[in-house]
Amino acid sequence: MVMNIALLKGDGIGPEIVDSAVEVLKKTGEKYGHTFNFTPYLIGGCAIDATGEPLPKETVEGCLAADSVLLGAVGGPKWDTLPGNMRPEKALLGIRAAMELYTNLRPAKLYPALKDDCPLRPDIVANGFDILIVRELTGGIYFGDRGYREGKYGEEAYDTECYSRMEIERIARAAFEAALVRRCNVISIDKANVLESSRLWRKTVHEVAADYPTVTCTDMLVDNAAMQLVKNPSQFDVIVTSNMFGDILSDEASQITGSIGMLASASLGATKRGLYEPIHGSAPDIAGQDKANPIATVLSAAMMLRYAFGLEEEARNIERAVDDVLEAGVRTADIAHGVNAVGCKEMTAEILKRL
Ligand code: NAD
Repeated sequence: MVMNIALLKGDGIGPEIVDSAVEVLKKTGEKYGHTFNFTPYLIGGCAIDATGEPLPKETVEGCLAADSVLLGAVGGPKWDTLPGNMRPEKALLGIRAAMELYTNLRPAKLYPALKDDCPLRPDIVANGFDILIVRELTGGIYFGDRGYREGKYGEEAYDTECYSRMEIERIARAAFEAALVRRCNVISIDKANVLESSRLWRKTVHEVAADYPTVTCTDMLVDNAAMQLVKNPSQFDVIVTSNMFGDILSDEASQITGSIGMLASASLGATKRGLYEPIHGSAPDIAGQDKANPIATVLSAAMMLRYAFGLEEEARNIERAVDDVLEAGVRTADIAHGVNAVGCKEMTAEILKRL
């Protein structure tokens, strides 16, 4: 298989962690007989410096022409005083919109070797947890009708939650497809006791569920879900939810893993292409010092192999190598708690050895 991958290294630690993932992909290609071609494009602060805009046209065109896209992170203090639409972070929304990425997949997994990083009580996470949050990314209240008007008490502002059957159906399908290659359990999260849009959400999710008889589908109200994530996280396999609920719950889920440098994500659209990126930012405080943890980006590359290219065994091989490296006690500073930390390059070398 020959695959063309657009690389958006971005700012701060972006170039270091993307280089790491590229090495892992190259070694995987050698092992399994695939060719990955990489083309870098500018995004974020480095794009502003070079071209005057955070998301140059060539970057968008390059991503749309590629088979998949790997992103590091953007932003940093140098560009913090620029106006909103010229900020590096604006490029993230721009590229997601241009690629029509309506599904966000965020795994939150507790690695046994890192269980002491988890802020929850040991008895709560005795069985570990491995959750995949499937969040709708381009609809709902973040994109709905909004504005200011004169109301009962004078000036008021409003935002609108609106979901079409089509939008719910396609995100539900993404969740059920993901569940098929996991533990076949989907929990759909809504607020159907109050919101009309949630009632359509619930009805539509169950209609889609009928096409997946081997997957269990249950509903949970969002307030209860926020509690259950910290009370009994191991009950969750795949969570599917709306844009705003997913935004909040995925941050909660990432916090209970205890380590931002470990968490990968994928944003998918109607095509298989997708955009794969760590959930953390550009970490300007450690940029250029060989201190970044590359694992979130390496695991994002594994997600790319799984979802963009259907290379499940290759993806699992990378995930196994990461498990092995952690079991062997290799740690970057963010997960080392002061003892025996290795740098980004050495962590990469340790992963490569185990592929
Ligand atoms: P951050 O995620 O960059 O950093 C938070 C803390 O976590 C820092 O102490 C950092 O050193 C540490 N950290 C993050 N990733 C790490 C890694 N891989 N290895 C080791 N330590 C790591 O968040 P922030 O400091 O709030 O934001 C910094 C910049 O990143 C800002 O300009 C922000 O706008 C931008 N940002 C970009 C994205 C993105 O590109 N998707 C996401 C969030 C923030």
